[in-house]
Amino acid sequence: MAYLGNPTGTIEVLQKYNFNFQKKFGQNFLIDPHVLDKIISAAEITKEDCVLEIGPGIGTMTQYLAENAREVIAVEIDKNLIPILEDTLSSYDNVTVINEDILKVDIAKIVEERNEGKPIKVVANLPYYITTPIIMGLFESHVPLCSITIMVQKEVADRMKVGPGTKDYGALSLAVQYYAKPEIVANVPPNCFIPRPNVGSAVIRLTRYEQPPVKVDNEHKMFSIIRASFNQRRKTLVNGLVNGGVAKKEDVLRALSEMELSPSVRGEAFTLEQFAHFSNIL
Ligand code: SAM
Repeated sequence: MAYLGNPTGTIEVLQKYNFNFQKKFGQNFLIDPHVLDKIISAAEITKEDCVLEIGPGIGTMTQYLAENAREVIAVEIDKNLIPILEDTLSSYDNVTVINEDILKVDIAKIVEERNEGKPIKVVANLPYYITTPIIMGLFESHVPLCSITIMVQKEVADRMKVGPGTKDYGALSLAVQYYAKPEIVANVPPNCFIPRPNVGSAVIRLTRYEQPPVKVDNEHKMFSIIRASFNQRRKTLVNGLVNGGVAKKEDVLRALSEMELSPSVRGEAFTLEQFAHFSNIL
C-alpha cells in the first residue's frame, strides 16, 4: 500500500471504497506530506513511544506514526473506515485500531495495558467539533501523557496560547496553561485537506507539566471559579461568581481585598497565578 499523505493516494483509496464523507464526524483528511512530517517531528516520536491517535480516518497519519513509534493505538468512531484502515495499515504489525467514540474510551486503561502505565504521546488531526472535550478529558482524567500534538482550528490554537487582555482569553486558555506548555508548530491552510474545511487550522503541541506552574489547594474549585467568571465575562468577578452560585459575595470581596484588588475587577483580567491565589484564599 502506497503512502496516503498526498492527493493522488488519498483519492485512490476514497474511490476504491466509494467512501462518503460524514460531516457530523468532522472528516477532513490531510493530503500534504510536509504538514505530516512537521506533525511527526514536533511530536518527537521515537521507537520507544506508545502513541494514541484520535480519528485515524483512512490511516494517513497512522502510517507515519507506525513507521516512527513502537506502538500505535488508533481510535476511530466511523465504522465505514474500519475496512479501509485494515487495508491501508495491513503492512504494519504495531497498530491497533479501536472502533469507538474517543469520549467513551477508558484511555487510562489502554495506557496501563499497552504502556505499563507510563506516559504516552497523543497525536491527532482532531475532529474540530469535539476539540475541547477531548483535550479537557485527557488532562482532567490525569491520563499519563508526555505531550499532545494536534491539528485544531486556528482560532482554538490561539485561544490555548493567549493571556489576559485579549478577546480569545478564556477557560480553555487557563486550563491548557495549567496542565501544559502550548507551542504553535504550524499554520495549515484549508487546501491541505480533502474536503477543505471552512476554517484555517494550526498544529499545536501541548507539553504536559510534571508539576503545574501554580500551586492550587483545590483544582476543582479553581476551575469552577474560572468557568463562572468567563460564563459572564462582561460582569465583575463578584457578580459572575455570586450569580454562578460558586461563592458568597462577602467571601469574594474579602479575597479581593486581601489581594489588594478593586471590587469591580473582572475575571477576564486575572492571570492563572491570580486565579490560583484567589481560589486558595476562598
Ligand atoms: N487522521 C485523519 C487525517 O489526518 O487525514 C483524519 C482526521 S479527520 C479531521 C477526524 C477523524 O476523527 C475522522 O476520521 C472522524 O471519523 C474521526 N472522529 C470523529 N469523531 C470521533 C470520535 N468521537 N471518536 C473517534 N474518532 C472520531
